[in-house]
Amino acid sequence: GDFSSLGLSDWLVKQCKQLGINKPTPVQENCMPAILQGRDCMGCAKTGSGKTAAFVLPVLQKLSEDPYGIFCLVLTPTRSLSNQPHVVVATPGRLADHIRSSNTFSMKRIQFLILDEADRLLEQGCTDFTKDLEVILEILPAKRQTMLFSATLTDTLQELKSIAMNEPFFWES
Ligand code: AMP
Repeated sequence: GDFSSLGLSDWLVKQCKQLGINKPTPVQENCMPAILQGRDCMGCAKTGSGKTAAFVLPVLQKLSEDPYGIFCLVLTPTRSLSNQPHVVVATPGRLADHIRSSNTFSMKRIQFLILDEADRLLEQGCTDFTKDLEVILEILPAKRQTMLFSATLTDTLQELKSIAMNEPFFWES
């Protein structure tokens, strides 16, 4: 199939073409329809599989329809300063510290939470991560869409699923 048949808007399909992104990769083909339909999603996908676009493209589509406040939160294992309008990319520890030390962070408008490279998020110290995630989840709206991508799907990820997700669509290659 192509991106249009997965439910992606024409303007995004066009932009992808200009970047040489013409044919969906397996993680995109399998996960994007569920994400575009508003379902939580858990996917087995490592770096290089196209997993970033699998969640970024649907988020951009929704963002173009109704942007307001911080719209999407991406938790990643490595520190990044790529804070863009409407999207915050953060490591869990740093974000949780920020929340603990100040009440100024408004996450009330968050519609998307992405747990990126979830197996590596857990590697940073499972207890800390789970604690940090609880602090973060407490300030996020319960009504949101959560996506988790991981190179491997372990038992610990099942725990994350029960803490953070709501009947996710599940895909493994
Ligand atoms: P990722 O797995 O998210 O780290 O993406 C790896 C690389 O693949 C990135 O440089 C993307 O721009 C590129 N990419 C993502 N999806 C596609 C696609 N459908 N066709 C060609 N390249 C892609």
